[in-house]
Amino acid sequence: MNHPPSPSARPFIQWVLWLACLAPGLGACSSEVPKRRVLIVGWDGATFDLIDPLIGEGRMPVLADLMQRGQHAWLESSRVPISSAAWVGACSGQHPGETGVYDFFQRVEGSYEVEVIDARSNLCPPIWRILTGRGATVNVLGVPITWPPEPVRGHLAAGMLSPPAADWAWPPEYTSELRERGLLPDVGIWTQMRSLAPDQMLERIHEQLLIKEQVTLDLLGRNDWDLSMVVFKSLDVISHQRYDGSTQGVIADLLEDLDRILGNLIKEAGPQTDVIVMSDHGFGVFPFTFNLYPWLVNAGLAVEQGEGPPTQPAAAPLIVFEAETERLRLKRLDLAQTRVLATNTECEGNFGSLRLNLAGREPEGVVPADQAEALLTEVEAALRAIEVPGGPLVTQVWRGAQLYPGPANGRVPDLIFETRTDWQVVASAAGPALTQHQVPRPNHRLDGIFAAAGPRVSSRAERARWSVFDLAPTALHLMGHSIYEEMSGEAHAELLSSPQPVQRIAHADDPTYRPSAEAWKELTQEQRQAQIDQLKALGYADDDDD
Ligand SMILES: [Zn+2]
Repeated sequence: MNHPPSPSARPFIQWVLWLACLAPGLGACSSEVPKRRVLIVGWDGATFDLIDPLIGEGRMPVLADLMQRGQHAWLESSRVPISSAAWVGACSGQHPGETGVYDFFQRVEGSYEVEVIDARSNLCPPIWRILTGRGATVNVLGVPITWPPEPVRGHLAAGMLSPPAADWAWPPEYTSELRERGLLPDVGIWTQMRSLAPDQMLERIHEQLLIKEQVTLDLLGRNDWDLSMVVFKSLDVISHQRYDGSTQGVIADLLEDLDRILGNLIKEAGPQTDVIVMSDHGFGVFPFTFNLYPWLVNAGLAVEQGEGPPTQPAAAPLIVFEAETERLRLKRLDLAQTRVLATNTECEGNFGSLRLNLAGREPEGVVPADQAEALLTEVEAALRAIEVPGGPLVTQVWRGAQLYPGPANGRVPDLIFETRTDWQVVASAAGPALTQHQVPRPNHRLDGIFAAAGPRVSSRAERARWSVFDLAPTALHLMGHSIYEEMSGEAHAELLSSPQPVQRIAHADDPTYRPSAEAWKELTQEQRQAQIDQLKALGYADDDDD
């Protein structure tokens, strides 16, 4: 005889149903949205400055073929061009004023302290959540800032900033499978490996590259997916140590390896798959450094309370080290007289950021709100007045609120600026304001790469200029899905060989929309199916399953 489930059993049954629905390939949950499959391959920090000459020498034949068959573009990164803001923004189609992710750290509210971000810091829905809600199957491998892994229909293995000992994959048992195969979620120095010598690091990176290639090939071979996205972070990690723009050496070798792996992934994905290759920012070398901290002190905008050399924190994983360095730098300041603050992790490449020590916002703020704009104008004028050989150092200045307006704008600094392309920007208590290096320093550049080809992509020889925030809306459109009205990124309909009008829907009108606050909770199969049916009834997903 059947009894209704007891109230205590209900959550368990819901959980089983949710797992059944998330398990790919089960007929009960099969998707009826169009099967237009897309593979996205991310090469963190890849730049056409090096790729173009390598293609010219015939050393990256797979990417060359992709660009020749399809389209390519410079992909402008976030300002500042940093992996966290750029990847989160790319996958959500939204900028830092909307996602709330500007940096690897975020201010603890009502404090000068910073805390490291994670996937929950992103206030916007990433593409895998949107597609999961609409019944599509996704594979997400190694995308930075995806820990803790959110429940998706398919597989998700988190990337950079994953705590190595935690569960960093979805479904939960996938972590132990990947661990047995030797995959590390993060090959960088942020959470581990800071103590490795450069040669050991290189060896580890090559070993990880092969494991990740095989893990990705296995997922692609399951043939049950609509979107697969894999990011190779190692290029950025090695470039920070060794990039010199040369077509000889470890960076060029790594790009050749990535090109070979790309060929294998494209082959496994099959001819019906549209393929996108992209990076979150570029790379370059900088002969000069502009150090914001001593500049603020010299300009009287920040006041130190003590003398003596800056204290360095003890060696630690970079996420701990950077937060501690920031704490020690703040301790040197007399906050009662300091009007402007700079944080090193909010500077990258030839871009820097500044925050006012604002009364009512910062705990010891001294700048009254009604004087904020006048002070920003004064700081902008002072920045623009800095002369270096060749002309003014600072070429562009933005108000954070105007560059990245939106509900999360409070997490964006007050002033963002760009310098000449041969000057990198840092904020360090050590060293002078302006330095020339004997050996130019590798660092990020604004322009990343984009290339796409496949059965639904048209061919165009001329290189376009798009934004990294265009990735999610463009991929959704390519897959035949509506994009969100809230997305500031653009869906490039011109990518398609038979362009379709871009369908837009507001979060509020999409029954499958899940805000970040709810994304780590699990839904029942019935709830999800009801959402998908509603979306279809609204005409934002058709029943065509070709
Ligand atoms: Zn990056």
